[in-house]
Amino acid sequence: MFDTAIAGSLPKPAWLAETQKLWPQWKASGDELRQSKLDATLLWIKAQEDAGLDVIGDGEMSRQHFVHGFLEQVEGIDFEHKVEMGIRNDRYKAMVPQVVSALRLKGRVHVTEARFLRAHTTKKIKFTLPGPMTIVDTVADRYYGDRATLAMAFAELLNQEALALQADGVDIVQFDEPAFNVYMSEVNTWGIAALERAARGLTCTTAVHICYGYGIPANVDWKKTLGDEWRQYEQILPALAKSSIDQISLECIHSHVPPQLMALLAGKDVMVGVIDVASEQVETPEEVADAIGRALQFVPRERFIACTNCGLAPMSREVALAKIEALAKGAALARERYGAAR
Ligand SMILES: [Zn+2]
Repeated sequence: MFDTAIAGSLPKPAWLAETQKLWPQWKASGDELRQSKLDATLLWIKAQEDAGLDVIGDGEMSRQHFVHGFLEQVEGIDFEHKVEMGIRNDRYKAMVPQVVSALRLKGRVHVTEARFLRAHTTKKIKFTLPGPMTIVDTVADRYYGDRATLAMAFAELLNQEALALQADGVDIVQFDEPAFNVYMSEVNTWGIAALERAARGLTCTTAVHICYGYGIPANVDWKKTLGDEWRQYEQILPALAKSSIDQISLECIHSHVPPQLMALLAGKDVMVGVIDVASEQVETPEEVADAIGRALQFVPRERFIACTNCGLAPMSREVALAKIEALAKGAALARERYGAAR
Protein backbone atom coordinates (compact mmCIF):
# COMPACT_ATOMS: atom_id res chain seq x y z
CA MET A 1 0.00 0.00 0.00
CA PHE A 2 2.06 2.94 1.21
CA ASP A 3 -0.18 5.59 -0.22
CA THR A 4 0.83 9.12 0.70
CA ALA A 5 -1.52 11.88 1.80
CA ILE A 6 -1.42 15.09 3.80
CA ALA A 7 -3.56 15.57 6.91
CA GLY A 8 -5.39 18.48 5.30
CA SER A 9 -4.40 22.12 5.38
CA LEU A 10 -1.63 23.88 3.47
CA PRO A 11 -0.29 27.45 3.74
CA LYS A 12 -2.29 30.12 1.96
CA PRO A 13 -0.26 32.12 -0.58
CA ALA A 14 0.57 35.67 0.55
CA TRP A 15 -1.72 37.14 -2.14
CA LEU A 16 -4.70 35.20 -0.73
CA ALA A 17 -4.43 35.79 3.01
CA GLU A 18 -2.08 36.74 5.82
CA THR A 19 0.62 34.12 6.13
CA GLN A 20 1.65 31.93 9.07
CA LYS A 21 -1.55 32.58 11.03
CA LEU A 22 -4.29 30.20 12.16
CA TRP A 23 -7.07 32.77 11.64
CA PRO A 24 -5.65 34.84 8.73
CA GLN A 25 -7.44 37.82 7.22
CA TRP A 26 -8.29 37.54 3.52
CA LYS A 27 -6.51 39.93 1.14
CA ALA A 28 -9.48 40.38 -1.21
CA SER A 29 -13.28 40.26 -1.08
CA GLY A 30 -16.27 39.39 -3.26
CA ASP A 31 -15.62 37.86 -6.67
CA GLU A 32 -11.93 38.57 -6.46
CA LEU A 33 -11.67 36.53 -3.24
CA ARG A 34 -13.74 33.68 -4.72
CA GLN A 35 -11.38 33.51 -7.70
CA SER A 36 -8.25 33.82 -5.54
CA LYS A 37 -9.30 30.87 -3.39
CA LEU A 38 -9.68 28.65 -6.45
CA ASP A 39 -6.41 29.86 -7.95
CA ALA A 40 -4.64 28.90 -4.73
CA THR A 41 -6.43 25.53 -4.72
CA LEU A 42 -5.21 24.82 -8.25
CA LEU A 43 -1.67 25.75 -7.30
CA TRP A 44 -1.64 23.24 -4.43
CA ILE A 45 -3.33 20.48 -6.45
CA LYS A 46 -0.48 20.82 -8.94
CA ALA A 47 2.15 20.91 -6.17
CA GLN A 48 0.77 17.76 -4.52
CA GLU A 49 0.65 15.94 -7.86
CA ASP A 50 4.16 17.09 -8.80
CA ALA A 51 5.45 15.86 -5.45
CA GLY A 52 3.86 12.49 -6.24
CA LEU A 53 1.25 12.24 -3.47
CA ASP A 54 -1.40 9.57 -4.01
CA VAL A 55 -4.31 11.36 -2.30
CA ILE A 56 -4.94 14.99 -3.16
CA GLY A 57 -6.72 17.61 -1.08
CA ASP A 58 -7.81 21.21 -1.59
CA GLY A 59 -5.37 22.38 1.09
CA GLU A 60 -8.31 24.16 2.76
CA MET A 61 -7.63 27.29 0.68
CA SER A 62 -11.29 28.35 0.79
CA ARG A 63 -11.76 28.46 4.56
CA GLN A 64 -10.32 30.95 7.00
CA HIS A 65 -10.00 28.31 9.74
CA PHE A 66 -10.69 24.58 9.73
CA VAL A 67 -13.64 24.90 12.14
CA HIS A 68 -15.06 28.33 11.41
CA GLY A 69 -15.10 27.70 7.64
CA PHE A 70 -17.92 25.20 8.19
CA LEU A 71 -19.77 27.33 10.73
CA GLU A 72 -20.11 30.23 8.30
CA GLN A 73 -22.86 28.26 6.50
CA VAL A 74 -24.74 27.32 9.68
CA GLU A 75 -27.90 29.17 10.71
CA GLY A 76 -28.13 29.68 14.47
CA ILE A 77 -24.56 30.89 14.82
CA ASP A 78 -23.85 34.52 15.67
CA PHE A 79 -20.61 35.53 13.98
CA GLU A 80 -21.18 39.24 14.67
CA HIS A 81 -20.65 38.91 18.40
CA LYS A 82 -17.64 36.69 18.94
CA VAL A 83 -16.48 36.08 22.49
CA GLU A 84 -13.13 35.06 23.91
CA MET A 85 -13.06 31.47 25.10
CA GLY A 86 -10.40 29.10 26.38
CA ILE A 87 -10.42 26.16 23.97
CA ARG A 88 -8.94 22.61 24.13
CA ASN A 89 -9.43 22.59 27.92
CA ASP A 90 -8.25 26.20 28.12
CA ARG A 91 -4.92 25.54 26.39
CA TYR A 92 -5.30 28.75 24.43
CA LYS A 93 -7.77 31.60 23.96
CA ALA A 94 -9.66 32.17 20.76
CA MET A 95 -12.39 34.54 19.62
CA VAL A 96 -15.28 32.21 18.89
CA PRO A 97 -18.81 32.68 17.48
CA GLN A 98 -21.85 31.86 19.61
CA VAL A 99 -24.61 29.31 19.14
CA VAL A 100 -27.80 31.33 19.70
CA SER A 101 -30.64 29.24 18.25
CA ALA A 102 -31.45 25.87 16.66
CA LEU A 103 -28.85 24.88 14.10
CA ARG A 104 -29.59 24.42 10.40
CA LEU A 105 -27.46 24.47 7.27
CA LYS A 106 -28.06 27.54 5.07
CA GLY A 107 -27.03 25.48 2.06
CA ARG A 108 -23.99 23.66 0.74
CA VAL A 109 -20.73 24.54 2.50
CA HIS A 110 -17.91 23.27 0.30
CA VAL A 111 -19.56 22.54 -3.05
CA THR A 112 -17.41 24.96 -5.06
CA GLU A 113 -13.99 23.78 -3.91
CA ALA A 114 -14.97 20.08 -3.79
CA ARG A 115 -16.20 20.05 -7.40
CA PHE A 116 -13.22 22.17 -8.44
CA LEU A 117 -10.85 19.66 -6.82
CA ARG A 118 -12.64 16.76 -8.53
CA ALA A 119 -12.45 18.51 -11.89
CA HIS A 120 -8.70 19.13 -11.66
CA THR A 121 -7.21 15.82 -10.63
CA THR A 122 -7.83 12.20 -11.57
CA LYS A 123 -6.23 10.96 -8.36
CA LYS A 124 -8.12 10.01 -5.22
CA ILE A 125 -9.38 13.09 -3.42
CA LYS A 126 -9.86 13.66 0.27
CA PHE A 127 -12.00 16.37 1.80
CA THR A 128 -11.78 17.44 5.43
CA LEU A 129 -14.54 18.61 7.76
CA PRO A 130 -14.21 19.53 11.43
CA GLY A 131 -15.45 16.78 13.76
CA PRO A 132 -18.47 17.40 16.00
CA MET A 133 -16.54 17.37 19.29
CA THR A 134 -13.93 19.80 17.99
CA ILE A 135 -16.66 22.15 16.73
CA VAL A 136 -18.36 22.05 20.13
CA ASP A 137 -15.02 23.00 21.66
CA THR A 138 -14.57 25.95 19.29
CA VAL A 139 -17.92 27.74 19.77
CA ALA A 140 -19.64 29.36 22.75
CA ASP A 141 -22.99 27.64 23.39
CA ARG A 142 -25.83 29.93 24.48
CA TYR A 143 -28.67 27.65 23.37
CA TYR A 144 -28.29 23.86 23.71
CA GLY A 145 -26.77 23.79 27.21
CA ASP A 146 -25.15 20.38 26.86
CA ARG A 147 -22.03 19.45 24.90
CA ALA A 148 -23.24 16.01 23.82
CA THR A 149 -26.58 17.36 22.54
CA LEU A 150 -24.82 20.19 20.72
CA ALA A 151 -22.38 17.70 19.17
CA MET A 152 -25.26 15.59 17.82
CA ALA A 153 -26.87 18.70 16.33
CA PHE A 154 -23.63 19.55 14.53
CA ALA A 155 -23.15 15.90 13.52
CA GLU A 156 -26.46 15.95 11.63
CA LEU A 157 -25.35 19.03 9.67
CA LEU A 158 -21.93 17.55 9.00
CA ASN A 159 -23.62 14.41 7.73
CA GLN A 160 -25.70 16.40 5.22
CA GLU A 161 -22.57 18.06 3.86
CA ALA A 162 -20.54 14.83 3.90
CA LEU A 163 -23.18 12.97 1.85
CA ALA A 164 -23.20 15.85 -0.63
CA LEU A 165 -19.40 15.80 -0.84
CA GLN A 166 -19.57 12.10 -1.63
CA ALA A 167 -22.01 12.91 -4.44
CA ASP A 168 -19.54 15.53 -5.69
CA GLY A 169 -17.02 12.72 -6.22
CA VAL A 170 -14.99 12.89 -3.02
CA ASP A 171 -13.29 9.54 -2.29
CA ILE A 172 -12.41 10.11 1.37
CA VAL A 173 -14.32 12.29 3.86
CA GLN A 174 -12.15 13.05 6.88
CA PHE A 175 -13.33 14.55 10.15
CA ASP A 176 -10.71 16.45 12.16
CA GLU A 177 -10.95 15.78 15.88
CA PRO A 178 -7.94 17.25 17.75
CA ALA A 179 -10.31 17.56 20.74
CA PHE A 180 -10.28 13.73 21.00
CA ASN A 181 -6.80 13.94 22.55
CA VAL A 182 -8.05 16.38 25.20
CA TYR A 183 -11.40 14.98 26.41
CA MET A 184 -10.70 11.26 26.35
CA SER A 185 -13.55 10.20 28.61
CA GLU A 186 -16.10 12.27 26.64
CA VAL A 187 -14.78 10.66 23.44
CA ASN A 188 -15.93 7.34 24.83
CA THR A 189 -19.27 8.57 26.17
CA TRP A 190 -20.42 10.67 23.19
CA GLY A 191 -17.53 11.75 20.93
CA ILE A 192 -17.36 8.62 18.80
CA ALA A 193 -21.16 8.35 18.69
CA ALA A 194 -21.32 11.91 17.31
CA LEU A 195 -18.54 11.13 14.83
CA GLU A 196 -20.40 8.05 13.58
CA ARG A 197 -23.58 10.14 13.27
CA ALA A 198 -21.63 12.57 11.07
CA ALA A 199 -20.45 9.69 8.88
CA ARG A 200 -23.81 7.85 8.72
CA GLY A 201 -24.73 6.47 5.32
CA LEU A 202 -21.41 7.30 3.66
CA THR A 203 -20.21 4.61 1.28
CA CYS A 204 -16.99 6.42 0.40
CA THR A 205 -13.98 5.97 2.69
CA THR A 206 -14.34 7.70 6.06
CA ALA A 207 -11.47 8.99 8.18
CA VAL A 208 -10.78 10.78 11.42
CA HIS A 209 -7.66 12.85 12.14
CA ILE A 210 -6.56 13.05 15.78
CA CYS A 211 -3.46 15.02 16.63
CA TYR A 212 -1.77 17.19 19.22
CA GLY A 213 -2.49 20.32 17.20
CA TYR A 214 -0.71 22.66 14.85
CA GLY A 215 2.87 23.66 15.64
CA ILE A 216 1.79 26.93 17.29
CA PRO A 217 3.50 28.08 20.55
CA ALA A 218 0.47 27.25 22.78
CA ASN A 219 0.53 23.66 21.55
CA VAL A 220 4.31 23.34 21.76
CA ASP A 221 4.14 24.51 25.40
CA TRP A 222 1.26 22.15 26.17
CA LYS A 223 3.18 19.19 24.75
CA LYS A 224 6.00 19.95 27.18
CA THR A 225 3.57 19.28 30.06
CA LEU A 226 2.51 15.85 28.76
CA GLY A 227 5.55 13.98 30.03
CA ASP A 228 7.88 11.51 28.37
CA GLU A 229 5.13 9.27 27.03
CA TRP A 230 1.95 10.61 25.47
CA ARG A 231 -0.65 7.92 26.10
CA GLN A 232 -3.87 9.82 25.22
CA TYR A 233 -4.41 7.60 22.18
CA GLU A 234 -4.43 4.55 24.43
CA GLN A 235 -7.73 5.71 25.94
CA ILE A 236 -9.52 6.28 22.65
CA LEU A 237 -8.07 3.92 20.01
CA PRO A 238 -9.79 0.74 21.32
CA ALA A 239 -13.22 2.36 20.87
CA LEU A 240 -12.22 3.81 17.48
CA ALA A 241 -11.11 0.34 16.38
CA LYS A 242 -14.67 -0.84 17.02
CA SER A 243 -16.25 2.16 15.27
CA SER A 244 -17.53 2.41 11.70
CA ILE A 245 -14.72 4.82 10.66
CA ASP A 246 -12.32 3.32 8.08
CA GLN A 247 -9.10 5.31 8.52
CA ILE A 248 -7.44 6.91 11.54
CA SER A 249 -4.83 9.66 11.16
CA LEU A 250 -2.30 9.84 14.00
CA GLU A 251 0.70 11.86 15.03
CA CYS A 252 3.93 9.84 15.14
CA ILE A 253 7.31 11.30 14.09
CA HIS A 254 9.08 13.42 16.74
CA SER A 255 6.14 13.00 19.13
CA HIS A 256 6.26 11.12 22.41
CA VAL A 257 3.46 8.79 21.38
CA PRO A 258 4.60 5.20 22.04
CA PRO A 259 4.41 3.69 18.52
CA GLN A 260 3.09 0.38 19.85
CA LEU A 261 -0.22 2.16 20.60
CA MET A 262 -0.91 2.03 16.84
CA ALA A 263 -1.38 -1.73 17.23
CA LEU A 264 -4.65 -0.90 19.04
CA LEU A 265 -6.08 -0.03 15.60
CA ALA A 266 -6.02 -3.55 14.15
CA GLY A 267 -8.45 -3.73 11.23
CA LYS A 268 -8.25 -0.01 10.40
CA ASP A 269 -6.21 1.87 7.82
CA VAL A 270 -3.76 4.06 9.69
CA MET A 271 -2.50 7.39 8.38
CA VAL A 272 0.81 7.53 10.19
CA GLY A 273 2.34 10.97 10.71
CA VAL A 274 5.88 10.84 9.33
CA ILE A 275 6.28 14.58 8.74
CA ASP A 276 6.62 16.92 11.74
CA VAL A 277 4.52 20.09 11.45
CA ALA A 278 5.98 21.73 14.56
CA SER A 279 9.47 22.11 13.10
CA GLU A 280 10.69 24.14 10.13
CA GLN A 281 13.42 21.54 9.66
CA VAL A 282 12.57 19.59 6.51
CA GLU A 283 12.85 15.83 6.93
CA THR A 284 15.19 13.91 4.63
CA PRO A 285 13.72 10.99 2.68
CA GLU A 286 15.86 8.70 4.87
CA GLU A 287 14.30 10.08 8.06
CA VAL A 288 10.82 9.61 6.61
CA ALA A 289 11.62 6.05 5.52
CA ASP A 290 13.07 5.30 8.97
CA ALA A 291 9.89 6.55 10.64
CA ILE A 292 7.81 4.41 8.29
CA GLY A 293 10.00 1.42 9.13
CA ARG A 294 9.43 1.89 12.88
CA ALA A 295 5.69 2.24 12.45
CA LEU A 296 5.54 -0.85 10.20
CA GLN A 297 6.24 -2.94 13.29
CA PHE A 298 2.75 -2.04 14.47
CA VAL A 299 0.73 -1.30 11.31
CA PRO A 300 0.51 -3.83 8.48
CA ARG A 301 1.78 -2.48 5.16
CA GLU A 302 -1.56 -2.96 3.39
CA ARG A 303 -3.14 -0.74 6.08
CA PHE A 304 -0.40 1.89 6.01
CA ILE A 305 -0.76 5.43 4.65
CA ALA A 306 2.21 7.78 5.06
CA CYS A 307 0.91 11.18 6.16
CA THR A 308 1.81 14.41 7.93
CA ASN A 309 1.33 14.72 11.71
CA CYS A 310 -1.19 17.53 11.22
CA GLY A 311 -2.02 20.31 8.78
CA LEU A 312 0.73 22.49 7.34
CA ALA A 313 -1.31 25.72 7.31
CA PRO A 314 0.73 27.87 9.72
CA MET A 315 4.08 27.08 8.05
CA SER A 316 5.85 28.99 5.31
CA ARG A 317 4.85 27.96 1.82
CA GLU A 318 8.44 27.04 0.94
CA VAL A 319 8.83 24.72 3.95
CA ALA A 320 5.41 23.11 3.41
CA LEU A 321 6.26 22.37 -0.22
CA ALA A 322 9.62 20.86 0.77
CA LYS A 323 7.86 18.73 3.40
CA ILE A 324 5.32 17.23 0.99
CA GLU A 325 8.19 16.43 -1.38
CA ALA A 326 10.06 14.75 1.50
CA LEU A 327 6.90 12.76 2.31
CA ALA A 328 6.64 11.39 -1.23
CA LYS A 329 10.37 10.67 -1.56
CA GLY A 330 10.52 9.04 1.87
CA ALA A 331 7.56 6.81 1.07
CA ALA A 332 9.18 5.82 -2.24
CA LEU A 333 12.37 4.91 -0.39
CA ALA A 334 10.38 2.92 2.18
CA ARG A 335 8.66 0.95 -0.61
CA GLU A 336 12.10 -0.02 -1.94
CA ARG A 337 13.49 -0.82 1.49
CA TYR A 338 10.58 -2.73 2.91
CA GLY A 339 9.54 -4.40 -0.29
CA ALA A 340 5.96 -3.24 -0.57
CA ALA A 341 5.15 -3.63 -4.24
CA ARG A 342 2.53 -1.18 -5.46
ZN1 LIG B 1 -4.12 18.05 13.37
